[in-house]
Amino acid sequence: MIDTPLDEIPKINASLHATFATRKTFPLAWRQHQLLQISRMLQDNHKALADSLYQDLGKPAFEVYTTELNVMIDRAILSAKRLPEWAAEKNLEGHPDIPPPQKKWKPRVTPTPKGAVLIISPWNYPLILSMQGTIGAIAAGCTVCLKLSEITPNFAGVMQRLLPQYLDQDALKVVCGGVPEVTKVLEQKWDHIFYTGHGSVARIIAAAAAKHLTPLTLELGGKSPVIVDPECDLELAAKRVLFGKLSNCGQLCVSPDYVLIPPSALAAFTEGLKKAYASCYPDGSLKSDSYARIINMQHFKRIKGLLDRTQGKVLMGGGIDEEERRIEPTVVLVKPGDVLLESETFGPILAIMEVEDTSAACQWISARDHPLVIYLFSKNEQIQKDVRKLTMSGNLVFNDTFMQLDVKVLPFGGVGESGYGRQVLQHTFECFSYDRTSVDIPAEAEQMVHLRYPPYTEHSFRS
Ligand code: NAD
Repeated sequence: MIDTPLDEIPKINASLHATFATRKTFPLAWRQHQLLQISRMLQDNHKALADSLYQDLGKPAFEVYTTELNVMIDRAILSAKRLPEWAAEKNLEGHPDIPPPQKKWKPRVTPTPKGAVLIISPWNYPLILSMQGTIGAIAAGCTVCLKLSEITPNFAGVMQRLLPQYLDQDALKVVCGGVPEVTKVLEQKWDHIFYTGHGSVARIIAAAAAKHLTPLTLELGGKSPVIVDPECDLELAAKRVLFGKLSNCGQLCVSPDYVLIPPSALAAFTEGLKKAYASCYPDGSLKSDSYARIINMQHFKRIKGLLDRTQGKVLMGGGIDEEERRIEPTVVLVKPGDVLLESETFGPILAIMEVEDTSAACQWISARDHPLVIYLFSKNEQIQKDVRKLTMSGNLVFNDTFMQLDVKVLPFGGVGESGYGRQVLQHTFECFSYDRTSVDIPAEAEQMVHLRYPPYTEHSFRS
């Protein structure tokens, strides 16, 4: 990865605005070609990309292909295919609230690209989280400045080399680097900013966007809780929660962060976790090729610090290999006030806290920041309804962890502290477009509108 020189950044901004002004990015054929080029780039270079993610995150190739590469290849192609529908002008003449004379006014809504946009992506799923926004922005007809995370330098280096080879260099520019580079990028005027990352940085982004009244999408994280109904299949629930925790070693915005469970179900649930762990890692996880590592020493120390400071009882795991930056999936039984219940753990630690019942779990959750996701393990429809009614979250998943991401038509995003705006396919397209309305008022409309002209008389009121 080569850091972008700071004095290049205003030039990048100016050139992306200039390209947009040529309207080169407007034709659907241009957009579809770029989208298919993204898919070609990912297919032609899958090995180099998978290797880079292994170097940066120790990400097992299976996880790279199933959760990042194949998903993005599919979505780039699908976006190219669906684009004519998404971008189509909507004719509202037949709308039931349009009175007959207005039908002749040709009321239309046209999805229109916002302009030169900025996408700032994080390190944890660097491929999906950089390409998802880029696909939506290109589909919408925008020009794009893509800021890749400095924390995954191998991946950023590969993308820095590949993107100009496959995509129109006038319309997409990559910026690499850390805080000085992002700060410089944020000084520029953009027509939309799409940020994925931590809420603390999101406040810096939002303040910078406010200076130019730039619209914003914030895809953030937080603590996504799991509620366990003691009547559910506890062994299966434990297996699915553990799977949610293992993916990318818990470094996932929708990773189950902590479990709220009645005391009567704790022993069976813990046994289920242990059984699932033993079947996934018969020789332990620390040396397994099927388990990622912690991204860097700073995050390793942060997570280890949480384990050092918790007052809870370790029920499973706890093993650490500092040299390899590996931490076993670790389950800790905690009480209110514990450090593991404070901020997002963003690592392979699963806190469990006992609560009286699912209602008490809802009260606990609704007294805190709205999570990105709430996971409920219960087949009881009344409990499902209660959780839906009593809590708020971006997503709600019953009886599994993060499988909502597999349902590609569902909009994904947070609420409150977990962010605002929605993404995935058409929803990402909509982030980068605005609904431009138009009407065309014919001369004969004078019969209908003649009263609007002054002078206003008694007759005007009576008519
Ligand atoms: P981060 O906010 O540290 O970094 C993301 C981007 O912000 C990077 O490109 C980085 O260069 C930039 N950045 C960092 N510091 C900055 C600063 N001071 N000023 C301006 N820009 C700065 O986030 P992260 O650690 O990469 O990601 C972890 C967080 O992201 C977690 O909270 C996770 O839940 C969340 N997340 C959310 C989603 C989602 O889709 N909702 C997806 C992945 C991660």
